[in-house]
Amino acid sequence: MKLAQCAPDHIRAIDPYQAGKPIEELARELGIDPKTIIKLASNENPLGMSPRARDALEAAVTSLARYPDSNGFVLKSTIARKFGVGTDQIVLGNGSDDIIELVARTFLHPGASCLHSQYAFAEYALMSRAAGATCIEVPARRYGLDLDAMQAAIRADTRVVFVTNPNNPTGSLLEADALAGFLDAVPDDVLVLLDEAYIDFVDPDARPDSLALLARYPNLLLARTCSKAYGLAGLRVGFGLMHPEVASLLNRVRQPFNVNALALAAAAAALDDDAFLRRTVELTRSERQRLDAALRQMGFDPLPSATNFIAFALPDARGVHRALLEQGVIVRALASYGLDDFLRISVGLPQENDRFLATLERIVAAR
Ligand SMILES: *Cc1c(COP(=O)(O)O)cnc(C)c1O
Repeated sequence: MKLAQCAPDHIRAIDPYQAGKPIEELARELGIDPKTIIKLASNENPLGMSPRARDALEAAVTSLARYPDSNGFVLKSTIARKFGVGTDQIVLGNGSDDIIELVARTFLHPGASCLHSQYAFAEYALMSRAAGATCIEVPARRYGLDLDAMQAAIRADTRVVFVTNPNNPTGSLLEADALAGFLDAVPDDVLVLLDEAYIDFVDPDARPDSLALLARYPNLLLARTCSKAYGLAGLRVGFGLMHPEVASLLNRVRQPFNVNALALAAAAAALDDDAFLRRTVELTRSERQRLDAALRQMGFDPLPSATNFIAFALPDARGVHRALLEQGVIVRALASYGLDDFLRISVGLPQENDRFLATLERIVAAR
């Protein structure tokens, strides 16, 4: 088609994002009841959402004929209070994917480059390529980010470096000192996007104090999401914390109503529900440990994870992935991340994890 050929080369070269398979889609394919399917593929919260968020959603339904607050006053006030930042340091996003895209559209362009690690979240390269920039992939070190190599790979035209802590899809965690050393070494005209989508799952003692780093490094941006620990993936809310001048730039590029009214209301309530967050984190930690032990018992060697998922290698990951799907168990194959031999499983409810383990055991035994 002639029109399609008119799209710029950098757009046509993009590999589309491969999302975890939706439950309804697999139910249609297998012709079975969606209720019999379990999904451990997208790192969602198995407890659902906070009851407070649900109440806020119900209350917000009555005013959906109105546009949302384009400045997100209530949600920004909640974030400012919770994280000790100014409201002028906050940019709200339609998921933190939106923050990643805003950064790419604000700072990247043809002739500029960005850096990310091998085995990184696919959206970084996708959004950066859509902005016409060159993406440099830096080899990982033992399935984690190699910050020294990333620092060394920065070029004069590099404008953005994506750092994920802990990392998706490998689950690795950076040490606080290494992160601070890296930020010291990065030139101040390079933005470091520190993606902390899974930071709530990290033991507080092991967590770099990224909010303190934010005060020290004006070129640091923290990306957070309400999709994982806060249980609101379907609503699409995330936010970035950054220097006010960077926020002001992103806000020019941002669609004025990028976060819908339901999302604004639910996110503010969810961020205030410490008890629900605590329950989520406790369940995740204990079940992650149990999954890890069970996989080891089966002879696998899962990557150490500071998150709500576990990645592990196994023979014929593709075939096992397909066999699990046929049994109504959706997990993530990691071939699109360059990890052909790996599966990634999100930590679910105890009964979901049991079903995954039993199904996997049966599939592996039959091979
Ligand atoms: C899930 C995830 C996100 C963002 O998700 P949103 O739903 O768009 O907020 C960002 N970064 C990483 C590494 C993720 O895994």
